[in-house]
Amino acid sequence: MSLQEITSRIANAEARSDRPAGSVKLIAVSKVQPNERVQAVLEQGHRCFGENRVQEAASKWPAFKEQFDAVDLHLIGPLQTNKARQAMELCNAIHSVDRPKLAKTLARLAQELGHCPDLFIQVNTGEEAQKAGVLPADADGFIAECRSLDLPVRGLMCIPPVDEEPTLHFALLAKIAARNGLEGLSMGMSGDFEQAIALGATHVRIGSAIFGERVKPLG
Ligand SMILES: *Cc1c(COP(=O)(O)O)cnc(C)c1O
Repeated sequence: MSLQEITSRIANAEARSDRPAGSVKLIAVSKVQPNERVQAVLEQGHRCFGENRVQEAASKWPAFKEQFDAVDLHLIGPLQTNKARQAMELCNAIHSVDRPKLAKTLARLAQELGHCPDLFIQVNTGEEAQKAGVLPADADGFIAECRSLDLPVRGLMCIPPVDEEPTLHFALLAKIAARNGLEGLSMGMSGDFEQAIALGATHVRIGSAIFGERVKPLG
């Protein structure tokens, strides 16, 4: 699918849900894609991208940022505390805040650097052992803890289990966000972004539908 097709499907989904045009941000997930494909999307004028590894982001985005203005880079994958500084220097948003140790590290670095990316707290809505994120039952407490550290918490993020109906997970995430007064909802990928928009997504993370299948396996 082309970038244009995706943006028009997003616009249609916004209209169907009576959401204002442009209220959903498209994060083009460029992880493990060849640079030519990423370059082509930049040349079409798109500026918001997602990466799931700090090291990979650091290896390709500084050069793209020299070539293109106003790149808006989002880290959407797990973040180790020893990579937090690099992530904060490189990214405009981090969608994977999921534990107190990371929150405290981000708060300390925010003081030191004098700025902090927009933060999303990842919720493990499917309570999957192998997946990152706070459990739904722990979400309110963790959100409060991040706020007490003065972190700029903008919203919540989830990745539904592959074999379950995603709408149940989107609805749960929206409910937790609403009761905590959070506006941002990072949810919806190539296969389910229209459903996510219907349930209030403000950020959709779309990779393969824009760039084609990922060429390298995810390690
Ligand atoms: C890879 C990835 C995506 C994009 O997945 P697609 O199915 O290719 O759209 C979205 N979110 C996260 C966290 C990812 O790691």
